[in-house]
Amino acid sequence: MLAAEMTRHTTFKFCLDPGAGQQEVLTRHAGAARVAFNQCLGMVKSSLTRRHSDPSVDLPWTGFDLINTFNAWKKTEAAGRLFTVASNGCVELLVTGLACFTQVCQQVFEEAAVDCGKALAAWADSRSGKRKGKRVGFPRFKIKTAAVASFRLRNKHPKGGKPAIRVGDNDHPRTVTLPGIGVIAVHDDTRRLRRMLAKDRARICYATVSHHAGRWYVALNVEAADLHPARRHMPGGAADHGGWVGIDRGLSAFLVAATADGTEVARIQDAPKALAAGLHRQRHLAKKLSRKKKGSVNCREASYRLARHHRHVRNVRRHFLHKVSNELVKTHDRLVLEDLNVSGMLRNHRLARAISDAGWAEFARLVGYKQTWRDGDVAVADRWYPSSRLCPACGTINADLTLADRLFICGCGHSADRDVNAAANLAGWAEGQHDLHLDPRTPKHGGRATNARRRDGADRHTTCAGFTGTLRVPVKPARLTREPRFTLRRQPEPTTPEKGGAEYTTKRCSARFNG
Ligand SMILES: [Zn+2]
Repeated sequence: MLAAEMTRHTTFKFCLDPGAGQQEVLTRHAGAARVAFNQCLGMVKSSLTRRHSDPSVDLPWTGFDLINTFNAWKKTEAAGRLFTVASNGCVELLVTGLACFTQVCQQVFEEAAVDCGKALAAWADSRSGKRKGKRVGFPRFKIKTAAVASFRLRNKHPKGGKPAIRVGDNDHPRTVTLPGIGVIAVHDDTRRLRRMLAKDRARICYATVSHHAGRWYVALNVEAADLHPARRHMPGGAADHGGWVGIDRGLSAFLVAATADGTEVARIQDAPKALAAGLHRQRHLAKKLSRKKKGSVNCREASYRLARHHRHVRNVRRHFLHKVSNELVKTHDRLVLEDLNVSGMLRNHRLARAISDAGWAEFARLVGYKQTWRDGDVAVADRWYPSSRLCPACGTINADLTLADRLFICGCGHSADRDVNAAANLAGWAEGQHDLHLDPRTPKHGGRATNARRRDGADRHTTCAGFTGTLRVPVKPARLTREPRFTLRRQPEPTTPEKGGAEYTTKRCSARFNG
C-alpha cells in the first residue's frame, strides 16, 4: 500500500493518569530537562564572559554544539563526585558524573540542549531583525518552583521494529508507551490517533510531557497524511476571481460572513464568552488562594484549583473557535479576514477584556491552517481598509460611523446591517485584488505547507492508488452555497420589526445592493 503524502503537522494531547511511582519518574525527567537546559545556558554564558579576555574561546551556540558540550561535561568531576574513605583512613575522590544520568532517558538531555539552542537563535534573530514580532530576550535560567515542569522525547523508528513512542500497546487502548518510562495510562480516548497510526496515516515525531495544575499531560506531535481529496476544495482557475466570502469579527456578533453582493452567509451571534462567564468563580478561587499560608500544601492545592479554572476557560474558548473555524473552512473555499490590530485594540481598557475573551487572533490562525489543509484560500485585507465605513454602492467613506451604529446608512440611500456591510466590503476587496493568488498552491506563495518529509510515490492518496491522472481531482464543486451547519447554542433572535428586531433582512439587503 502506498503511503499518503505527509504534509500536515498536528498534535494530539492527552491527560495522563500515572501511578505514584510513575509520577516520581516523570518529575525526575522534568527535573533533568531543567538541569540540562540551565547547564547549557550556563556554559554559553561563561564562554561569553571568557571571550572578553580571550577571543579564541569556543562558544557552543547551536543545539548540536550544546549536546556535545553537555555530554562532555556530564561525565566530569564538575557534574558529580564522591569522596570515599577506606578503613585505613585513606580518602579517595571518585568521579561519578551527573547523578541522575543513568535514571533518565538520554533524549531528555539532548532535547533540552536543542531547546537552549533554539532560544539563543530566537534571541539572535530578533536582535538582527530576522525574526518578526515582539522582541525576544536572552534566555533565562529555569527556576524549579516557577518554570512549567516538562520534557520532550523524540520518537525513533527502527527498521523492522516498533517505534519507541506507541499508543494503545498490548490491547490497552488508553495507554501511551514512552521510551525509558514505560506504559502510562491515559484519561482520554485515543481512538482517532490509533486508527491513523494503524492505517499508516500518521507518524509520531515527539512526545512532550508537561505538568499543569496537578495533572500530567502528554502532547504527541504527529506528522499526518493529507486530507482525503473529497474533503479538499477544488483549485480555482487563474481567471477566477469570484466566490470570496468576507468575515467580519465583532463583539456583539462574534462573526458575520457575507459575499460581495451583500448576502449574509453565516452569523454566529453569541460566543461563549468563557472568561466573562467564569469571572465570578475566578474571583472566588483567587480570594481563597490569597487566604492560604504561603508554601503550605493547602496553598498549592488552591493554586491548582485556580489554574484548572483558567484552563477550563481556555478550553471552552478553544472548543468554540475550532468548531466555528472548521465549519467555515468546510463550507467555503475562499475566505477574507481583515488584519486586526488586536494588541492595539487592547489598549482600550473598556473593551480589552471582551476582545481578549473573543480570541480573534487565535481564530484567524485556526482558519489559516485549516484552510491550507483543505487547499482553500484565505486572504487578509489590509489593516487600513475601511471595511465598516465604506459604502459598496457609491464608494464614499462614512467617517462618522461609531461603534453604537448597528445600521450602516449612506447618503446615497444604501443601508445595510453594519456587520454584513463590513463582511461584504471585505469580499468585494478580495474580488478586486486580481493578483492575490497567482500561484497559491506553492509554499512560496503561502500555499500548502510541505515542510514534512516526503515518501516515495508520495503524491498519491491511498484510496487513489492506481489512479493515473493528477491528484487533485475535481470531486467537489469549488463554490459551496450550502448553509454552514452551526450547531452552536443560539439565542432566538428577533428579525422582524413586529418581534422587536431590526428593520432589515438579508434578502432585502441584497436586493438593495443589486438595485
Ligand atoms: Zn453610498
